Amino acid sequence: MRYRDTRDASRMVSFAQAVMQGMDPETGGLYIPESIPTLPTGLVSRKSIPSFREIAFETARPFVEGEIPDDELMAIIADAYPFTAPVAPIDPTTYVLELFHGPTCAFKDFGARFMARTMSWFNRGEKKALHILVATSGDTGSAVGSAFHGVEGIDVTILYPRGKISPLQEKQLSTFDGNVRALSVEGTFDDCQRLVKAAFTDEALRGKFRLSSANSINISRLLPQAFYYVYGSLLVRERCPYDSKIDCPSLVVTVPSGNFGNLTSGLIARRMGAPIRGFIAATNANRTVPDWLATGRYEARPSVATLSNAMDVGAPSNYERMQAMYSLDEARSLIAGYWLDDAGTTEAMRSCHEKTGYVIDPHGAVAWRAWDHARSGGMRDFLDGKKAARGASGFKGNAKRPPEWAKDCAERKCVGMILETAHPAKFGETVRAAIGRDPTIPERLERVLQLPDRSIPMAADYASFREWLVASL
Ligand SMILES: *Cc1c(COP(=O)(O)O)cnc(C)c1O
Repeated sequence: MRYRDTRDASRMVSFAQAVMQGMDPETGGLYIPESIPTLPTGLVSRKSIPSFREIAFETARPFVEGEIPDDELMAIIADAYPFTAPVAPIDPTTYVLELFHGPTCAFKDFGARFMARTMSWFNRGEKKALHILVATSGDTGSAVGSAFHGVEGIDVTILYPRGKISPLQEKQLSTFDGNVRALSVEGTFDDCQRLVKAAFTDEALRGKFRLSSANSINISRLLPQAFYYVYGSLLVRERCPYDSKIDCPSLVVTVPSGNFGNLTSGLIARRMGAPIRGFIAATNANRTVPDWLATGRYEARPSVATLSNAMDVGAPSNYERMQAMYSLDEARSLIAGYWLDDAGTTEAMRSCHEKTGYVIDPHGAVAWRAWDHARSGGMRDFLDGKKAARGASGFKGNAKRPPEWAKDCAERKCVGMILETAHPAKFGETVRAAIGRDPTIPERLERVLQLPDRSIPMAADYASFREWLVASL
């Protein structure tokens, strides 16, 4: 498979180049697959559902063909995924795809762990280690640090703003040992990013060390996220006629979105043949994409802080990929945009718990509310062109061009799968405020709380950072 640049379709690279470069250094474009392959028919139509690993292997194979041999790909997948993505039915028409069973309890583990192992594979045979520098404002850093921990030939330095992230996130970042270390920077997230950028553009430093980034735009983080859409949609298709008593229900997947990498992966899985009818793109007050679907104009804006903070993105970078893969009309026929404010998010955590007994985190709650609204008349109002009060949360789309599945949803012929992107215990206080009790803490989070802080204090100036790099790498 070859990968093309979103900004210049004539610029093509191999999978290895796309992974190792991250983005096109000359145009600033992102990579997308030249074409989207289809899943083997045997895989999607089989009576018994294949295992997560088998689905992962078959989904990934065409994307890495000729560059990673089959046995190696299988080894990468087996090593990356000692966990899966279980589906929890929470009422007769709602399934939660739980994406928090990885080591850091967030869905970013799926992408980051695959990326770490493919990078290590492409880096094999290099004498000098590859040094990864990441600036983080929270979750990305721990997923990346954990994903690369113990991976051969690569080491990772994470920069985070001291005291400006949640105590649990800080613990998750500052307790690594071995080939991963964290610098607690006396400054803001922007300072961290500035230091990393300065290192990348420092020619003399680059002459000494092989530096790389591991950010969320890397294609090797996006592709593996398609695995769980295929897996989850097959599981739901199997059982939903019994649970819902609906004949051949259509599956609508609701994705709590920030940078839109997760939704883009879903679009890829659907094109490959996963039985998904359409998507709801659910955001918090950072509603750039829902507004784009409604008005046809894309206007990036500064991000605003919300309860679902991993989705606080005002200029989602994967918009560029969605737009390179679909026209506006095609996007509107597949995706309904929905947004929810903080009061609505708290209410959604509460109502989900009250109606179903399921404890959901603030990100998943945004998706739950969107789906619950869609199936209980929200799509009907939308089709009738009824507008919510000005500025209020709700479906944001173009009623003249509704998603193809909106009518089915209004007629109650759909079931929903909502993506739960983080474990509720990562947002314990917010969840407690909504439902009146603490979520249960999984053992792997509990354990992190006991580990010693190993972070290295760092001033927010490039000279000190550079001096530290030269002395320590
Ligand atoms: C990163 C993240 C999101 C947003 O995912 P995107 O791919 O950026 O849209 C949602 N929920 C959680 C918990 C996250 O960490």
